[in-house]
Amino acid sequence: MTEQEPIYRGKAKSVFRSDNPNELIVKFRDDITAFDGAKKDELAEKGIYNARVSAYLFEYLRANGVPSHFVRMEDERTMIVRPLKMIPVEVIVRNIAAGSLVRNYPFEEGAPLDPPVIVLDYKDDARHDPMINEEIIVALGLMTADEIASVKKTALRINDLLRERIDEIGLDLVDFKLEFGRHGDEILLGDEISMDSMRLWDKKTRTSMDKDVYRFDKGDVMATYAAVAERLTGA
Ligand code: 5GP
Repeated sequence: MTEQEPIYRGKAKSVFRSDNPNELIVKFRDDITAFDGAKKDELAEKGIYNARVSAYLFEYLRANGVPSHFVRMEDERTMIVRPLKMIPVEVIVRNIAAGSLVRNYPFEEGAPLDPPVIVLDYKDDARHDPMINEEIIVALGLMTADEIASVKKTALRINDLLRERIDEIGLDLVDFKLEFGRHGDEILLGDEISMDSMRLWDKKTRTSMDKDVYRFDKGDVMATYAAVAERLTGA
């Protein structure tokens, strides 16, 4: 496998072409950022923990009938994926009020949301990922109304599956962000599902076990990421 310049370099992952046109190489780097990149650091091994959890959850979803771009792990921070044409919409599922929902609306932090609330954000750092609605998504030509409905249904199914598994390790899945992309005629789950993209609270102590530890200097970020990876994957 030849390694060249990335074809895409995000805030925490780099994407490379591979010799196989139907596979891309995603490297999980140790960079961690928050607040649209205004806060950034490099934390040794962070990429490994996120890659491990992401691969584990993509495999778990696949075993339960939800396909994604995930193909296999190449090494501990290198994921082989199907090439997707990413749709710049973040699909956020919320089970408990926290984060921007509490900042922007009169919810009390920690209030359960039943049924879960789906929020759609337009992925654009320069615009600070503004919330978007279905009409704007259709008007921008990003997805059809039917595609939005199908993505939302998939997101809720993923929520059910993730909640069940995360509950077993003593954590509450407060909220998480998904990204989807086009592969031929199909829309597939892409990106990652990791401590960077989920909010996880310890059921007993209500302490954060996710990127909020980094965002708000709540403690040892790497010890937290390692603990979640260990509880979830046994490694
Ligand atoms: P909030 O809207 O409260 O900032 O985020 C809701 C959930 O989606 C959190 O779990 C958060 O980590 C995730 N999320 C929202 N936007 C982003 C983003 O741009 N990148 C990542 N990695 N996660 C995000």
